[in-house]
Formats: sequence, structure tokens, C-alpha cells
Amino acid sequence: MPPDVQDDPALAAEVDRLLARRTREISLRGEIERLFRARVWSQTAKIIRAWMIWVAFLDVLTLALNAALLPWGVAQSMLLPGAIIPPVALAVVLAWRKPQAPWLQGASLIAGMFLILLSVALVGASAGGEFYERQLNVMLFVAITAIIIFGIPLAWTMTIAALALGLYLMLQLQNPAIAHGSAVAGTLFFASGIFATVAARRIMTILAQKTFLFELRDRRRVAELAKANDRLVLLARTDPLTGISNRRWMTETLERLWGSDKRCLAGAAMLMCDIDNFKKLNDHLGHAEGDRCLVKVATILKENVRRDRDHVARYGGEEFLVLLPGVNEEEAAAVAERMRKSVEAAALPNPGSRVSRWVTLSIGVAVQTSEAISPEQLQQRADAALYLAKQTGRNRVLLHRPELSARKHIRPGSLGA
Ligand code: GH3
Ligand code: MG
Ligand code: MG
Repeated sequence: MPPDVQDDPALAAEVDRLLARRTREISLRGEIERLFRARVWSQTAKIIRAWMIWVAFLDVLTLALNAALLPWGVAQSMLLPGAIIPPVALAVVLAWRKPQAPWLQGASLIAGMFLILLSVALVGASAGGEFYERQLNVMLFVAITAIIIFGIPLAWTMTIAALALGLYLMLQLQNPAIAHGSAVAGTLFFASGIFATVAARRIMTILAQKTFLFELRDRRRVAELAKANDRLVLLARTDPLTGISNRRWMTETLERLWGSDKRCLAGAAMLMCDIDNFKKLNDHLGHAEGDRCLVKVATILKENVRRDRDHVARYGGEEFLVLLPGVNEEEAAAVAERMRKSVEAAALPNPGSRVSRWVTLSIGVAVQTSEAISPEQLQQRADAALYLAKQTGRNRVLLHRPELSARKHIRPGSLGA
């Protein structure tokens, strides 16, 4: 998984800067280079390990075939230099099993490659004759396959290329079958081919890096979009004045709970809360003070519910809807009464109120028991109870009863009508 660039603006800016460049000018440095290496490490290591095993296998196979097909003396002379490859390849495989410090990984690979190339070349040099030059060509072929398929830093690739060409030149200069001029000319010829191979490898690496940069940028953009989306959802569901949920959110919550949560059918209470004579508060103290009062009442209501289960929303101007899942009538009435008392105890002034000097709250409570009813029906019952609470004097909690006569008066307010 690529890292989270969205958390690091400097890194994000660097990604954009690199992507704005021409492809061939892309060059990763510092943290991004480290991230890219970490990203491609396992793939690179897998390729290197597979290549090492392949080379060791071919070496053993070639030595066996030589022993079977060539005169024994020739085959024997190839045996000792050829025997270097399997242990060296195995050592590189081990060094590339887990990520290590880059210099250590680079050094083990380059040393391993040098020994393998040297071994291939020495097989020919020690057998002599036609094998001399043939093995040097095989050695260059081996180097080219490594250059092409190893997704390693360019400096390492160039070191491997230089080692191969250096070995080629040195051993050709020692080759009794060819003149020095011819050895140099041959080296230059192969050098141009190897240079082209290194250039091709560089382009492949840059394209891989560009893909990585796109990946980082896409991740950042997706994360930014998700964040913006979350914020929009929050804004759409939050009441801007009080910061609690709004009516839309409550409607969605009711739909969700009634749709999936069967506990709600077993018992859910709805509390419709309305501030008494709130218009008077606005008239006497001003709209701004009214707003402050709404914020305080919202806070008090929230403080009186269970954080993890209950829901409080501003439903209208000075109306709040509270949903208490999994409670019975007694518990719901107790919560409502606690809310009413807390608002009264807060002593928020409402000088024009006909109920009290302080802000008071009327609450209609409806509880769904065994009977399965829709949230709309439950809300209508809470509304009806609230209406009666207002009718009977305000600053009180009324529990809805199916029969009007049996409606329960939880707190017959002394100021009530
Ligand atoms: P009752 O006891 O019958 O509920 O009387 P009330 O005055 O509270 O009820 P009414 O519905 O007559 O008035 C509600 C007032 O709430 C009217 C409106 O100006 C005020 N209001 C609604 N939204 C806001 C708001 O966001 N801020 C302020 N300050 N006032 C608001
Ligand atoms: Mg109202
Ligand atoms: Mg009111």
C-alpha cells in the first residue's frame, strides 16, 4: 500500500511538481524516492531472486552437459570457475529475502553480479580456445538480462554494466587469439549495445516512478474528496446554530432504525420538546439572546441522554425531538422530567413568559411498546402529548395515552392551567 501523502503537504507538493515535469526529466529524491523503493521492493527482490536461481540452474546444467559432451580435460577446467556461481547466487537470494539498508542490498547485489560475471568469463578463459570468446559473449548476455529486468537504481545498473564491460575488455586483452586493437574495438561495440540497454532500463524505471506518482496523487485526491464529502454530509445533517443534529438527520435516523434495528420495535420513546413562550424571550431580550438560549437548551438536552444510544435533534425553531431507543414509559418519562428540570434549573431569563421568570420546557412523550407503529405515528402521539402539555399550563411532561381520559400527568405544574 502506498503511504498517505494526504497527511504531508510538502510531499504532496513534491508529487505535483514532479508530475508537472516532462516524463524523462522525472527524478525521485529524498522521501519520495524512499517511498518508491519501499513500494517496488518486494517485486524487485522477487525478480532478482528468481534470476539468481535461474542463473545457478543454468550454470549447473551447462557444467553437467559439458562434462557429458566435451573432452574430460576441457570440462574439468570449467568446473572450478563454474562452481562459484551456485553459492554466490544463493548468497544474493538470502540477502534479498528481506529489506535491508539500501547500501547493503546494493553492495550484495553488485558483488554477487561481479562474481557471477567473473565466473562465466573465467569458465571460458580457463577452457581456452573457442570457449574463451564465446564465454565472454555469454557473460555480456547474462549482464544484459540483469540490466533489463532488475528494477534497481540507475547507479547500480551502470555499475553492473561497467563491470561487465571491464571484465570483457580485460579478458579480451589477455586473449591470445586476438590482437589488442580488436579487443578494444569489440569492447566499444558491445559498450554501445549495453549503453542502449541501460537507457531502455532507465525509461522503464521512470515510467514505473511516474505510475507511482500518479498513484500517490490519486490517493490524495480520493482522500480529499472523501473528506469534503464527509464535511458536506455533516453540514447537511447539523443544525448550524446549536451544532446538534437537524431535522433531516433525525428523519434519516428514524428511517434507519425502524428499517433495521428491531430493538426499536420492542421499545422506543419519542420526546417532543418545545420552549415555552419563546416568542416573548425574543421580544424582550432580542433575537440574539433567543439564539443563545436555543444553544443552551440544546446542550442541556444532550447532557441528559445516553451518548451512545440516544438522539437529540433540533426539529424546528424552538422545538427539539429526542429519540430514546429501548426504554419503557417510566424510563422515558424520567428522562423527560430530568430534562425539564435541568432547563428550569439553568435559570435562563425569559422575563416576558407567562409561565415563569426563567425559560421552561414542555415535553410530550410517546412510547412504542409491543404495538408496532411507524415513526410518524409515534411522533404524532408525542406532538399530541406536547399539545396537551401546552394546553394544561406548560413547563410539564405529558405522556401520551391512547385514551384521552387516561393520559398521564407526570408533573402537574403549579403554574399550569
Ligand atoms: P409556546 O409556549 O406556545 O410554544 O409559545 P412560543 O412563543 O414558544 O411559540 P411560538 O411558536 O408562538 O413562537 C416560537 C418562536 O420561536 C417564534 C420565532 O420567532 C422563534 N424562533 C424560531 N426560530 C428561531 C431562531 O432560530 N432563533 C430565535 N432567536 N428565535 C427563533
Ligand atoms: Mg413551537
Ligand atoms: Mg414554544
